[in-house]
Amino acid sequence: MSTQNKETLDFQAEIQQLLKLMIHSLYSNKEIFLRELISNASDAADKLRFEAINHPNWYEDDSDLSIQVAVDQSKNTITISDNGIGMSREEIITNLGTIAKSGTKEFFSKLSGDQQKDASLIGQFGVGFYSGFIVADSISVESRKAGLTKEQAVRWESAGDGAFTVEQVSKDRRGTTITLHIKPEESELLNSWKIKSIIRKYSDHISIPIQMFKEEWSEESKSQVIKDELETINEANALWTRNKNDISEDQYHEFYKNISNDFENPLSYSHNRVEGRSEFTQLLYIPKKAPFDLWDRSKRSGIKLYVKRVFIMDDSEQLLPTYLRFISGIIDSADLPLNVSREILQESKDVKFIRESSTKRVLSQLEDLSSSVEEAKRADYQLFWNAFGQVLKEGLGEDHANVDKLSKLLRFANSTQNSDIQNVSLSDYVSRMKEGQDKIYFVTADSYLAAKNSPHLEIFNKKGIEVLLLTDRIDEWMLSFLTTYDNKPLTSVAKGDLDLGSLTDVSEKEEQKEAEKEFVDLLDRMKKVLSEKAKDVRLTFRLTDSPACLVADENELSGNLLRMLKAAGQPAPDSKPILEINTSHPLVKKVHSTSVDFEEWAHTLFDQALIAEGGQLSDPGSFVKRLNHLLLN
Ligand code: ADP
Repeated sequence: MSTQNKETLDFQAEIQQLLKLMIHSLYSNKEIFLRELISNASDAADKLRFEAINHPNWYEDDSDLSIQVAVDQSKNTITISDNGIGMSREEIITNLGTIAKSGTKEFFSKLSGDQQKDASLIGQFGVGFYSGFIVADSISVESRKAGLTKEQAVRWESAGDGAFTVEQVSKDRRGTTITLHIKPEESELLNSWKIKSIIRKYSDHISIPIQMFKEEWSEESKSQVIKDELETINEANALWTRNKNDISEDQYHEFYKNISNDFENPLSYSHNRVEGRSEFTQLLYIPKKAPFDLWDRSKRSGIKLYVKRVFIMDDSEQLLPTYLRFISGIIDSADLPLNVSREILQESKDVKFIRESSTKRVLSQLEDLSSSVEEAKRADYQLFWNAFGQVLKEGLGEDHANVDKLSKLLRFANSTQNSDIQNVSLSDYVSRMKEGQDKIYFVTADSYLAAKNSPHLEIFNKKGIEVLLLTDRIDEWMLSFLTTYDNKPLTSVAKGDLDLGSLTDVSEKEEQKEAEKEFVDLLDRMKKVLSEKAKDVRLTFRLTDSPACLVADENELSGNLLRMLKAAGQPAPDSKPILEINTSHPLVKKVHSTSVDFEEWAHTLFDQALIAEGGQLSDPGSFVKRLNHLLLN
């Protein structure tokens, strides 16, 4: 064994933070370290099996892949060994010294420094290998990469204190051996019986054998003695290949925690064998909570692809559309070739079939939850919607074939309930439409309160017509793909001429005509004064309480969308809004009847209408000056 190569390296800064956070937050659930390390060992076996398709000599007469766990009370250690793919020196430095997950930086920037609060986030991130430090005060890893010689093995050691060492060592067996030096206060873990029960609890479904040396009671020494014979602790067949009826809910849940980074149970799962054009098994899980990198659209899916039980690849984005990137699960195909590459996947008809079928499966799982007769299931759907609704909306633009199914799953806040909870479906809305109402009305704004208090809602509130409040950033984009539901057009209350059709009564129509005659002159004068700001000034039929509001022309972008584009630095057309004024409002009446300060009044009416819809004044200083002038006169 040579140590001349020993070097000391620092962990990436985030790892220090992760270690602290993890030890604090997972203390009550510390036994999960074993699940994490066994899961890594099992992944390493999967990777070797895949690589060996092209490099059969990598097996080196050691092709029975397994994991061994051993407890040594005299040395205070627990050891987990595998004969999987192993790691080279470079790989061990990168894999165990940095965090490669996408969105890591964003995750850490979200941490508040308050351990209690941050602790709840850790489950979304997934702790993997580092969870060993919950129970160990130092960890040593020896690894030999498949295909390398005995002498090219590497030892990695760290006390989790900011740095680690790596050195070249000699290792007979391919794969990785992890030795945890257990903290004195965790010595109860140094008990084979306890470790076996942890393995059965968390890792039963791992598809390769997890073995431990047998122990027997010796009358002679009056103690347990370890025999030189291995026994397999787990069930050791891939969970998804088993019959549904033989799998308990707990087993499904544990399996989920192993394949996802989640520490919580999933919301629901679906396990099926699909036959037909293509034959495959699917096991798909819907999580309860959004993962930390949900908004990273480059995040790949949580689907692992197997072919005839051989692991092929993680995160194969071809198996589900991007808007379902939060789903975790397994697809095991009976038809794809073992040497399938990402390129082949893109072209494959089988994959297309799998993708369509899996998408349908997920959507109908959601449909079942959302329309269940059981209240608890519907409550689960609400949880799901709160966490993933905005991502699901991406589907309307991405998956045209399923727009109908997706639009049934949408949930919105509305103008008639006093809560920002998004729990109104389009079907609910339609079932409550007024006699004579033929449109689904909505308003978009950048916050719930801006929408709820929008002047555009006044006439609707007065007539008791429900309006959907759309306040997610994605809504404007979504609306370009969702124009009707159940043959009823989705119509913005802030756009175009408001035509309430048969919802307007005859006397109102008469009044409107009268008003138009009476105020022609006022409108003309205002148009002149405001020609830089407003495309037109006209009478409104939308307002009951406010003096004025802005509307966009039928074919132009809404004010909300224009603001979003500008905020995102995108080119936005320079379109002017239309100012609508409410002639029954005392302020407008006053402006109509005086000739003093007319310009100030006109500008102030426009500016306050802009503020009321959440817009920003281009010249706030002048607004304040004018307002003060008017207040003093
Ligand atoms: P994750 O498993 O989520 O990627 P970990 O921190 O648990 O994160 O592990 C980091 C990386 O280290 C793994 O992705 C893998 O490449 C490597 N690794 C960990 N354990 C093993 C092992 N037993 N054999 C081979 N590689 C391993």
